[in-house]
Amino acid sequence: MTEPALIIEVCVECEQDLEHCHGTAIVHFDGSADCAEDPGCRMAAEQHLFVIMCGEVECSCGDPQPAAGWPGEHAAAS
Ligand SMILES: [Zn+2]
Ligand SMILES: [Zn+2]
Ligand SMILES: [Zn+2]
Repeated sequence: MTEPALIIEVCVECEQDLEHCHGTAIVHFDGSADCAEDPGCRMAAEQHLFVIMCGEVECSCGDPQPAAGWPGEHAAAS
């Protein structure tokens, strides 16, 4: 990634003392979410500042078919 690191120390939810996570949620094909920052994090995906699909981190859950409409294979080749 070429994006600069974005570190938010205090966000709106911090100020309101809401349960949330500053990490990135990885959403899997079955709808479950993992936290990329903290394996023990139990927050829902929407409680994270960032949400990505697990295909973006080469998770193989759900065994997605490398067929039309799933361009991961082409994007990986340089
Ligand atoms: Zn916060
Ligand atoms: Zn997955
Ligand atoms: Zn989290």
